[in-house]
Amino acid sequence: MARGLFSVSNLIKKEEASKNIASLFLQRIEEAYVKIQPPYKPSIYYKPSSLVCLRQMYFTRKGIDPEEEYKTASGIGILESGTDRHDRIQHVLDAMKNLGMEFEYIDVETYVKEHNLADIEIIEKKGMETKCFNKRYNMSFLTDGIIKYIPENKYFIFEFKTEISQKFQTREHEEVIHQSQAACYALNFGIPDTLFVYEDRNFCNHKAFHYHVTEDDKKFKVTDKIEKVEQYLKEDKVPPKITNKDIDPNYVGGQDRVTGPSAKICQYCKFKEHCNKYL
Ligand code: SF4
Repeated sequence: MARGLFSVSNLIKKEEASKNIASLFLQRIEEAYVKIQPPYKPSIYYKPSSLVCLRQMYFTRKGIDPEEEYKTASGIGILESGTDRHDRIQHVLDAMKNLGMEFEYIDVETYVKEHNLADIEIIEKKGMETKCFNKRYNMSFLTDGIIKYIPENKYFIFEFKTEISQKFQTREHEEVIHQSQAACYALNFGIPDTLFVYEDRNFCNHKAFHYHVTEDDKKFKVTDKIEKVEQYLKEDKVPPKITNKDIDPNYVGGQDRVTGPSAKICQYCKFKEHCNKYL
């Protein structure tokens, strides 16, 4: 449906572009925006943000090519804006200790070395971000940061999310699927506490939530899933499709993959066509 709408809107834009220079200029900006994007390189490793659907995890590990996305200047701009906001808030966090505040932004590589995390390899450092790989779980990840609460010498994972105003205004806790990322970082760094900060994309207001990962969380949200997918890979068998209860065992109502949290996972999945080949 979305694609049909885009096609109609593209036709209207082309029609307008043929009539005046401003519309033509705008059309070319939007085309160029898409054309200069580097090609997407799919990864065959697990990622903290993609540990939700077993089937999706299986396709990733199998190296199935993700379907090509319909890219727009607007969609690319939203991603760029999110990346930029991450960079800016990381610089703010980095300044806190020198401002005499209780929080310190910790360099991930230093943390990994000081805590002898033998399973974690540092792949690369880009500005304030550090790309890591967990050899044991075949997981590649790029955390938003590690924070130390100085008075208690206690570490927290920092997770930053930007979202539209409508979602932000009604937000009362962290998103359930974001808890899986917290569980992954708890497993990778041995830090069970995450501070989530959500930012309103329009007005840059913030809300913060503290989420504590339990041993059951790590098992249910991460290790059990990885073990199951590795078993499916060994048996060369495609796992079942996602259900709402896979995401939130307490979820009631909704129709799997049509309404509820699973619908959103399928909506943004890059293996939709491939998935439809199996029951
Ligand atoms: S379309 Fe839905 S069920 Fe199929 S692989 Fe993607 S997320 Fe899983």
